[in-house]
Amino acid sequence: MNGTSGANGHLGSKMNISDEDYKTYEKGVQVIDENKEFTPNLPTYLAIQNLISTGFNYHVVAVFGSQSTGKSTLLNHLFGTQFSVMDEAARRQTTKGIWMSRALDEQDHEQLVANREGGMTNNILVMDVEGTDGRERGEDQDFERKSALFALATSEVLIVNIWEHQVGLYQGANMGLLKTVFEVNLGLFLKDKSTTHRSLLFFVIRDHIGHTPLEGLKSTLMADLNKIWSSLSKPAGMEESEITDFFDFQFAALPHKILQPEKFLEETKALRTKFREGVDVQVLSDGSPIDDNNNGVFLPAYHRRIPADGFPLYAEGVWEQIVSNKDLDLPSQQELLAQFRCDEIAASCVAGFNEIIQPFEELSKKGGVLDGLGPAMKKALGEAVGGFEEAGGRYHKGVFGRKRDELRAGLEGRLRVLVINQFTALSKRGLAEFTEEITAILKKANSTAHAGTASYDFATVVDETRSKVVNAFITEASECYIAGPTAEWSSYEKELEGLQKDLDAVAGRLRGEEMKRLVSRLEKAIKVKLIEPIELEFRRMEDNTKEKGGLWDRVWNVWVGVVGDGVDTFLSRATSFNASEKERDVGAWKLKKKAWGVLKAKIDEEVHEGNLLLKLREKFEDRFRYDETGVPRVWKPTDDIEGSYTKALDATLKLIPLVSEMRLSNGQQPPLDEFLGDAPADYEEDLEELGPSKDEFEVISESKRIDLHQRFKRMADAVFVEAKRSTINGVAQ
Ligand code: GDP
Ligand code: MG
Repeated sequence: MNGTSGANGHLGSKMNISDEDYKTYEKGVQVIDENKEFTPNLPTYLAIQNLISTGFNYHVVAVFGSQSTGKSTLLNHLFGTQFSVMDEAARRQTTKGIWMSRALDEQDHEQLVANREGGMTNNILVMDVEGTDGRERGEDQDFERKSALFALATSEVLIVNIWEHQVGLYQGANMGLLKTVFEVNLGLFLKDKSTTHRSLLFFVIRDHIGHTPLEGLKSTLMADLNKIWSSLSKPAGMEESEITDFFDFQFAALPHKILQPEKFLEETKALRTKFREGVDVQVLSDGSPIDDNNNGVFLPAYHRRIPADGFPLYAEGVWEQIVSNKDLDLPSQQELLAQFRCDEIAASCVAGFNEIIQPFEELSKKGGVLDGLGPAMKKALGEAVGGFEEAGGRYHKGVFGRKRDELRAGLEGRLRVLVINQFTALSKRGLAEFTEEITAILKKANSTAHAGTASYDFATVVDETRSKVVNAFITEASECYIAGPTAEWSSYEKELEGLQKDLDAVAGRLRGEEMKRLVSRLEKAIKVKLIEPIELEFRRMEDNTKEKGGLWDRVWNVWVGVVGDGVDTFLSRATSFNASEKERDVGAWKLKKKAWGVLKAKIDEEVHEGNLLLKLREKFEDRFRYDETGVPRVWKPTDDIEGSYTKALDATLKLIPLVSEMRLSNGQQPPLDEFLGDAPADYEEDLEELGPSKDEFEVISESKRIDLHQRFKRMADAVFVEAKRSTINGVAQ
């Protein structure tokens, strides 16, 4: 164990350490002073104590407990240390900061008692920590937490010193402090499971009277510890951890030192022996014990695996981490007061806010626009935050500011939900109103409108209704606007944009429907306008003049004229709809196409078998039964009935091929394709729907023509026979 020269410089060399040094460190070294400064002297102390080059063969034990519970007394008895004990007469705090001292062994201890001198052979570093008793001064509590955590984090064994009557008392037994210390210890030092070490919590119950056996005290303490453990917040991945994953527990009780001094000495001696058991078990460099059969206090599993010469740096590092950890910072008394008062003030401000806002929150669940939300929420928020600022502004500035922001964020969060719902509801309502109003206007207009007459202007109606709806949205939505950097959510720009898009879509759809209606109205008008002129042309189908041409020239021209007018009307109305060029093209084309269908239907009607047969009969009889001057003929036997019959028959039969196919005087088919123009590019409707496109110009099919021919001939023949008979009858009379 003798320090050899070299490796550790003067620190490892016993020769360089003077008697003076021994004197300086007689009572150990103050590792951390009252100013939270870590000592630079720890390496020197370890060197003086011949510990610096012991590798892993040393132990660290610390004490935890309330102020003046005899901790220092206990350590001195167990380890032969000379920590200051509270002066019975002065009754003031004796230990400042954290002290560390090397233990004296049994034998040394006897000597020490005898002459306060002796060798040091036990490699146990004992830490005495300033007591804790929950005193008022925040500064002290801050130090308590930090020093307790330091003790827990660096030592293998933590002696928890506690009066028997403190057992089961949460506050008195420092359980609250233990909770914090466990929590931060878990977060800071036990993060990595693979390198996690265990520690022993050694409870020493003081002034044990004996009414409650140690077993009972033990189970009370364990129940408390488990409760603490389950309530502390654990880092991710450690939520399920148990206190026993990290700590072992042992319990001992000591009699009253003053009332039973002999017994006290006897039992501390036994305990002292217990703490020596296994102390000398050699630990290999990987931390494993050479001899595993060890049931003492300092089990190898508790060792931190820091070689002694690295211990000062390690301990300092732990301390730095603890000092710089915010979780351990205890607020000053002023801050505590501010927190308490600000919370109280905030609660009353929230209550006022609730009174105004809760009814809206209830209503909001049902959906729909919330009338008066804007002014109400501004009032509620203004009063709550304003009230808080007025009442809380006197308290600690930092705490006040933070609490105000928290309060505001909480309240804004609730308003945000309402406002977003409100925007949605306003937007929905605007869209519904718009659709409803335009539809109503259109319905009214359409019920009175005749083809082509415009009792309203679609584009104007849309524009007016649209701006009315948008303005209403803006007015109500902007009432919910809250200024300030945290309330960007209260601006309605995005929702407005969405509403406008929706309105455009509805307007477009309604315009499309309206244009469809216009087309079909115009189609009907065209149909009506075509009836008389077409019938007229068929009545005089055989006419053929230079100016007007034949039947089909006239029919075509009548149609082109009527349809042209219709298209003009359509286009001018479509322009007033604000329809796009494409929409107009499609509409006009559809109208022409449909009008062609109208014409074809009308022609079909004209050439319908009975109809046409009747017309042909009229034509035939005009020729056969009337003379050139239009006077009815009375046949005489001398008349050339056969000749007249043949002439009239031939002339009439010629009309059948004429009406069977549309062909202009120039021998061509009517220029339909030219008139219709190209079908619009991506015209979506099925073209078939608009009528047949094959044999556009055939009016009567070949077989029908033959049939017609025969039936007409038979009819003509009957007329002829009748004429013939009338002459015979005339002769007979
Ligand atoms: P510390 O502040 O926890 O370190 O306590 P000290 O060791 O300084 O002791 C505080 C006072 O309690 C001193 O007056 C001691 O004599 C006294 N004391 C020490 N041990 C015991 C004990 O076991 N029982 C009682 N009742 N008093 C003790
Ligand atoms: Mg003390």
